Amino acid sequence: MKIAVLGSGAMGSVFGGLLAEHEQNVVLIDTWKQHIDAINKNGLHLEGIGGDRFISVKGVSSADEIKDHVDLVIVFVKSPFTESALKGALHIIGEDTMVMTLQNGLGNAEKIAEIAGSGRTIVGITNNGATLIEPGRVRHAGLGETVISPFDGKISQRINEIAQIFTEAGLPTRVSDEVTVLVWDKLMVNVGINALTAVLRVPNGYLVEHASSDKLLEYAVKEAEKVCKAKGIQLRHDPVQHCRDVARATAANYSSMYQDVAKKRITEIDYINGAVVNEGRKMGIPTPVNETLVLLIKAIEEGY
Ligand code: NAD
Repeated sequence: MKIAVLGSGAMGSVFGGLLAEHEQNVVLIDTWKQHIDAINKNGLHLEGIGGDRFISVKGVSSADEIKDHVDLVIVFVKSPFTESALKGALHIIGEDTMVMTLQNGLGNAEKIAEIAGSGRTIVGITNNGATLIEPGRVRHAGLGETVISPFDGKISQRINEIAQIFTEAGLPTRVSDEVTVLVWDKLMVNVGINALTAVLRVPNGYLVEHASSDKLLEYAVKEAEKVCKAKGIQLRHDPVQHCRDVARATAANYSSMYQDVAKKRITEIDYINGAVVNEGRKMGIPTPVNETLVLLIKAIEEGY
């Protein structure tokens, strides 16, 4: 399968690298030239799960360098860049191309469906974890399930084939028609952990080890849970408990939003806590804790 990974940082490199290692025809697209140059010179240095090795895979710093249509585009830029990245890659999307998002937060699938067409859009979540160590070098830090679903709800042979290819590449993947629940389940964890760790500049575990930060986590997630209930979405877990469990299980990790503010990068706040505020507003549900977290992160971003 001809696969283009649009945004080949931590996660894009893991997915693209593993698929290339398993005989798929992969091209990694990333605007970070130093990273792409290192991949083209030495191969992608992948470590962590699966062991330390160099994978031969082609990288380009712009989609313009790809001339033909591909079978699958995997969008792995951070959420604020989904629209601009995809608009710059329209020429590689043909009649039969599928476009997949496994990004965190709400709104990416809708944006992709608007640009590429809902029949071409695949939405999902992944419980893999990855960290970019230096240009050309990425750590596959956690292996977890990936769940994908057609945006228009029509499960096709095509999506089953994609799940099989991912699974054979070492990325266990299943197709589901209840991905909305999974997206919101995952959103709850990001709502409770990401902004708070970024504001407090602490690793995930700190939040549940200290009474005041634990309360803030609880208030933020409970607001999101109310919004979720009003939308008629039945979560699989008790969201506060689940969020605390994840914070404990990843105690030493620094969330992606923490890493973004530490490196003075635009965060995914609008797609996580900001999405809760927006959805709440539509249904008249107040979300003051999430609103405050959004403003705090924006205040940090404005100071870059
Ligand atoms: P990352 O910052 O490591 O990678 C994003 C890459 O996109 C960067 O290398 C950047 O240079 C590139 N980029 C930006 N604009 C671009 C453009 N126009 N065209 C091409 N490339 C462009 O981010 P990540 O950690 O890999 O996260 C990607 C997504 O996956 C996010 O939505 C994140 O929330 C989600 N996610 C991450 C993890 C994780 O463990 N890292 C786990 C699950 C989900």
